[in-house]
Amino acid sequence: MTEVYNFNPGPSPIPAPVLKKAKEEMFNYENSGMAVMEMSHRSPLYEKIHYQAINQLKELLSVPDDYEVLFLQGGASLQFAMVALNFLPENKEAAYVLTGSWSEKAAKEAQTLGNVTTLATSESNQFKHIPEVDLSKVTEKTAYIHLTSNNTIYGTQWSSFPKEPAVPVIIDMSSDILSRSIPWNDVDMIYAGAQKNAGMSGVTIVIMKKSLLESANDKLPPSLSYKQHASKDSLYNTPPTAAIYITSLVTDWIKGLGGVEEMQRLAKQKADLIYSVIDGSSGFYTGHAEPEARSKMNITFKLTNENLEKEFLTQAKNTGFIGLNGHRSVGGCRVSTYNAVPLNHVEKLKSFMETFMKKNA
Ligand code: PMP
Repeated sequence: MTEVYNFNPGPSPIPAPVLKKAKEEMFNYENSGMAVMEMSHRSPLYEKIHYQAINQLKELLSVPDDYEVLFLQGGASLQFAMVALNFLPENKEAAYVLTGSWSEKAAKEAQTLGNVTTLATSESNQFKHIPEVDLSKVTEKTAYIHLTSNNTIYGTQWSSFPKEPAVPVIIDMSSDILSRSIPWNDVDMIYAGAQKNAGMSGVTIVIMKKSLLESANDKLPPSLSYKQHASKDSLYNTPPTAAIYITSLVTDWIKGLGGVEEMQRLAKQKADLIYSVIDGSSGFYTGHAEPEARSKMNITFKLTNENLEKEFLTQAKNTGFIGLNGHRSVGGCRVSTYNAVPLNHVEKLKSFMETFMKKNA
């Protein structure tokens, strides 16, 4: 097998020790004679995994007691709709901060269900920065503020969130959950597909304040109702048991390494390696994001012309670097350095970028 260095934007690497453990446990989980995905979701053995995953997320993210952790399906994309279904009544409007394609998609889905306003946007600057949010624009008509903490496609990231907002703040953290601490005083709900930093696709992590949950629309079909899922501890219907199992192993792995603080430190260390090549390249590589908005998860850049970029991506692929193409909507290159991407893979990519530059500058 050839060694690959996986920089996919998601699904993306799962920590090697997690894959190893899952392999070892595949045919006989804790002497049950079964794989986790063969067990009843009502069995004590599965329930242990389920609650362990919930409790470890609470511990790692310092989730206060007045917040609920849910495991839902339908990806982060279903949350775009569920947020509005549950929290956007007819007489109110939801305020979206637009920082790229995913926040635009979130706003578009909400628009099909109610009134949506743009609280701030960086569109006119090709989403290169995180816009200032003017909280005085929030009125008694505002149901909630929605933002995307890390913009997977453009490679920007909020370094801090609006302080003391008068209305609930709901954050899509699909591409930076578990890589940073969350200031719960100013955050009412977060959601994230697990497939970047928290495991495999199939489960969406939702964490919300109980008082927000209580305010949710209770006239929804039960399968779309946060209240329904919360009242059954996310066991209303069959949950994605295998994905939740992998999340429980990923949270074990993060705990073993020192928790989210250590993930945060490593994320900066890894991102700095690539940004340092970009900054030291005298324009051979040009970063997309403005320096103060740079993401520590997705590093986006271009080369001086498209032919050179193609050559870079081809040579990178032939050397084993996977997933470096920018999103099809923006082109260029993107290095995704999620929690499970080993530091030495990023170091190898840094050398590759430097060598390619020396040969082609
Ligand atoms: N939000 C963000 C920030 C994302 O990066 C993605 C996926 N790349 C999504 C939402 C959509 O997630 P899903 O495919 O799980 O619906």
